[in-house]
This record gives sequence, C-alpha cells and structure tokens, in this order.
Amino acid sequence: MAEPLDAAARRLIEPVICYPPDSLAPVDLDPFREARIEAELVDSVTVPARDAACFEVPAGHFFRITSIEGPQVGDLNLWNAANLAERFYSGKTRALHGTHLTTRDHMWSSFPQLRPMATVVHDTLEWYGIDTFGGSVHDVIGTRCDPYTHALLSGGGQYHHCCHSNLTRALADHQGISLAEAEPLVHDVLNVFMCTGFTRDTGQYFMKASPVRPGDYIEFFAQIDLLGGLSACPGGDCSSEHSSDVARCHPLLVEVFKPQDPVAGWTAPALNAYDGSHGA
Ligand SMILES: [Zn+2]
Repeated sequence: MAEPLDAAARRLIEPVICYPPDSLAPVDLDPFREARIEAELVDSVTVPARDAACFEVPAGHFFRITSIEGPQVGDLNLWNAANLAERFYSGKTRALHGTHLTTRDHMWSSFPQLRPMATVVHDTLEWYGIDTFGGSVHDVIGTRCDPYTHALLSGGGQYHHCCHSNLTRALADHQGISLAEAEPLVHDVLNVFMCTGFTRDTGQYFMKASPVRPGDYIEFFAQIDLLGGLSACPGGDCSSEHSSDVARCHPLLVEVFKPQDPVAGWTAPALNAYDGSHGA
C-alpha cells in the first residue's frame, strides 16, 4: 500500500509510555541500605570464565555480582527456588522498566505469578546513563548467547560455552537433573554489565565494550527465595565477539549477605491478583 498523504504527520505523533512507571509502588532505598550496613556475608561463589554457577539466596537477603580481575559480562537467570516454573521474565521487565535496569528496578517473574523476584538496590555503573549511540548497561533486550544461533549463522559450527549451555550445565549439576530437563528451564537473561542498545538507523541490537571495571558491582534484594544462575559470557567485555574462545574472559563473583534484622517495612510480594479464569 502506498504511503498516505499524511505520512509525515503520522510519524510526528508523540509516543505514549505503555506502562507508566508511576503506576508501580515507589521503591524507597533507605530501608534496604540501612539493613545492608550490618548484613553478614553468608555465601560466596566465583563463576569461572566461560562457565556458569548456581547460587541460592533466601528471601530478605541481598546478593551482589562483582567484576573481578577484568571487564566481564554476566548472563543472569533467576528462579523461584521452590518452583522452577516461576522464573525471570525479561520481556515484561523491559516493558515495565525500560531496556536497561538500574537501582529501584525489579526483576519480574513469569505468569501467572508476575511479581518482583529481586530489586536492584545498588549499581556502581548508574553513572553511565544512556550514551550517544543509545547504549546503556545491564540490559533486558538481549536473550543469551546460545549454540543454536551460533550454528545457524556459522554454517553448523559447534560451540559449547555459550551462556545458554553454561547455564544449562550449571542448573543440571545444581539440581541433580539431566541436561534435557534443565535446558527448557533456562530463560532470557539480565545481561549484567553488558553495554547494548539498538542502532537508531536500522534498529539492530548492538553491543560495545562494557564500561565495567574490577570492583564494580550490582546488588539485589531477594524478594522471594531464589535460585540464581550466572554465566561469565564467552564474549568477555563483549567489545568484539561472543560464541567463541576469542575474547578475553574473566570470572565473576557472587556474594550473598544476610541482614541482622529484616528490612524495615518489607513484606514478601503477594502472588499476582489476576483470578486466572481467562473469562471462561
Ligand atoms: Zn553470553
């Protein structure tokens, strides 16, 4: 169909935010920061380069992902520790908070629960903002590097250390289940420390060197009992390529902290209020 006569006017219509963020309860960081001061380190997991590891975080605890040794991107999966069917929902989190997460944003779970699983309470890369290419840090727009897309684009190449495979192996090992059982539970990630965006002219997903430096971290508050999986992406800082052993890679550190007292005013999030009848 030909372009209408008023095409230019149609393109000039102002956008409307789909999900106005002020519809959500505001997050007051003060009680979290207060509880964090006396919180005790109770677990620590080092995720090896080009591999993944699982970790558990009880509700009401904090967990921190830190860059150590060198710039490195991490692919994060979260599950309800008691029900792996409830898992992080990257797409809805993007719709609610935008393409990249920072402090006060939640990681939301899948249907039918759709509730906050974790909340970002500290992000040392918040200073980065949005750069002139439209890039920012900690995205929920990418999926996770995987061997299927790699085979598709490389004429059948076999690579076994994509984040998808790393997370699948780590989950299978942690749960004592087969790779076939674990693989469908792996889901789209929060790309921790990754700097990404969409090109303005062609709308393509891009990545660029992560601004992360050793010592940078992102810290979360666990709203429910969590099982986490973190892969240290074979893309390293994702400045050149992934799905190969070419990029320089580094480990990532996960630490879990238990507060002395529960966070003031915090209550575990309720299940979603929808009645589930779907009009039937
Ligand atoms: Zn990856």
